[in-house]
Amino acid sequence: VPLPEKEFIRKIRSRVKKAGGPIATGIGDDCAVLRIPRGHELLVTTDFSLEGIHFRREWHSARSVGHRCLTRGLSDIAAMGGTPTAAFLSLALPPKLPQSWVDQFTEGLLRLASRFHVVLAGGDTAESPGGVLADIVVVGSVPSGRARSRSGARPGDSIYVTGELGGAAATLGKLMRGKTKLKETEYPRHFYPLPRVGIGQYLQQHDLASSMIDLSDGLSTDLAHLCEESGVGAEIHLQALPLAKIGKPPSLVEANLALHGGEDYELLFTAPRATSMPDRIGRTKITEIGRITRVPTMFVADGQRKTKLSPAGWEHFSNASPSRG
Ligand SMILES: [Mg+2]
Repeated sequence: VPLPEKEFIRKIRSRVKKAGGPIATGIGDDCAVLRIPRGHELLVTTDFSLEGIHFRREWHSARSVGHRCLTRGLSDIAAMGGTPTAAFLSLALPPKLPQSWVDQFTEGLLRLASRFHVVLAGGDTAESPGGVLADIVVVGSVPSGRARSRSGARPGDSIYVTGELGGAAATLGKLMRGKTKLKETEYPRHFYPLPRVGIGQYLQQHDLASSMIDLSDGLSTDLAHLCEESGVGAEIHLQALPLAKIGKPPSLVEANLALHGGEDYELLFTAPRATSMPDRIGRTKITEIGRITRVPTMFVADGQRKTKLSPAGWEHFSNASPSRG
């Protein structure tokens, strides 16, 4: 029996605290009514999480799937320098899906939502003819004119990343090689990535980023988006890449994964060379990894050797070949 919409909404409603803050009217009406602070602009982003494309039920717990579903949206708001306020979830569920799966999914999503003071303010459910399909809409706000975009990078700007790269992709590699029994808590970068909301806000407030994008598809792919929107090129220093350590005992990921692997949800941003950039924001390391160039081509430099860098992040594991079509 498919989960009746009313039951799902009742469950969520019982978990969502009384409407308040940005929500004038929440679940139970035909629309949510949102307030945004005076002098702010609205940010809206939408992202699919599809079974078989973004997750597999045999690899990922329902809790992890719910968490990652919301991370995708929150990370987009972070990349604009905004503050997330509300989320909307549309779920299509196969008829035979256990109720406990839905409960755990919701638990994972709501736990992350409350950590970032985001209200789940609405959604829809339907029966899916195939796997689980989730679409998350996240709404946020940013002071008018202050949203960071992908198009502001200028030749000579330094390129920075937050945190460490390649951890999510290295974990995915383990899953794909058949190690299905990974302990999720030992691989948080893949199963429970945290969007860099606070850092995005900090960079926006202190005017530290000339352009910004979140790393969802992989450094080489997302950098290509940023370069394209800005009409510039880039040179990345391979030795400078902050490589993630994963597993127990922790081992360093390959540079290749830091360069091309997706789903780290770190921030990639640029700033004029004269900007004095902090080494850390909060507890998170900020690393300079290269330079924006006038020539609209991407290169990666390894010592004296310089090779052309193509967008090759793999977006999803259904498409294991390292190209994005
Ligand atoms: Mg994005």
